[in-house]
Amino acid sequence: MADDTIYLEQMELGPMQNFVYLIGDRARRECVVVDPAWEIDTIVDTAAASDMRIIGALVTHTHQDHVGGSLESWGMPGRIPGVEELLTRVPAKVYVHKAEREFLPGFGSDLVKVDNHDTLQVGRLTLTFLHTPGHTPGSQCFLVDGRLVSGDTLFIGSCGRTDLPGSDPSEMYYSLTQRLGALPDDTVLYPGHNYGGESSTIGDQKRHNPFMRFTSLGDFLHTMGGGRVRRI
Ligand SMILES: [Zn+2]
Repeated sequence: MADDTIYLEQMELGPMQNFVYLIGDRARRECVVVDPAWEIDTIVDTAAASDMRIIGALVTHTHQDHVGGSLESWGMPGRIPGVEELLTRVPAKVYVHKAEREFLPGFGSDLVKVDNHDTLQVGRLTLTFLHTPGHTPGSQCFLVDGRLVSGDTLFIGSCGRTDLPGSDPSEMYYSLTQRLGALPDDTVLYPGHNYGGESSTIGDQKRHNPFMRFTSLGDFLHTMGGGRVRRI
């Protein structure tokens, strides 16, 4: 591909259908990884195969299937490889929303707290952080070059769970209908799990995703309390 196109790799890794992304500038050969977890070798090798250098890790939220960590809190043995293993392979800053900084202890000066509308330069690309609480307090999406990487806030045809510790269905309503609903229809959507396909557009989701179509908070809360919420 030509050097002036965005570098974007979508990898489906692990048993929970997680999507991990590499996003960068082909000309400058720099990229970031979104939610490094499950198969760190695959992530590092994929970037290396395209001669891209990983300079940062962007965290959509701090659940273990997105950043790695012990499975003890899920009542399971073992741990998922993640940010910690990535940092043993590549020197990178880790960008997490300030509301979830406490859930990523031990990374010291490698950790960067970000907030809504902060930006990050990746080569010539400017990436914007959008705070989209609801699934978790510090959930965030990344907007770059007309593309939205949405983590567990917006899936194709559904949205993230709001019945977990730290979830807030009211916040999810505003994140989906106001913050993401305000994006241009042709924004390409890249979700955090393969629950409904690899990509879509915000316009398609505004038309067809029931969770973006609620016109009142009351109706949304009624539905979210009614057990129609899908997965993590
Ligand atoms: Zn999650």
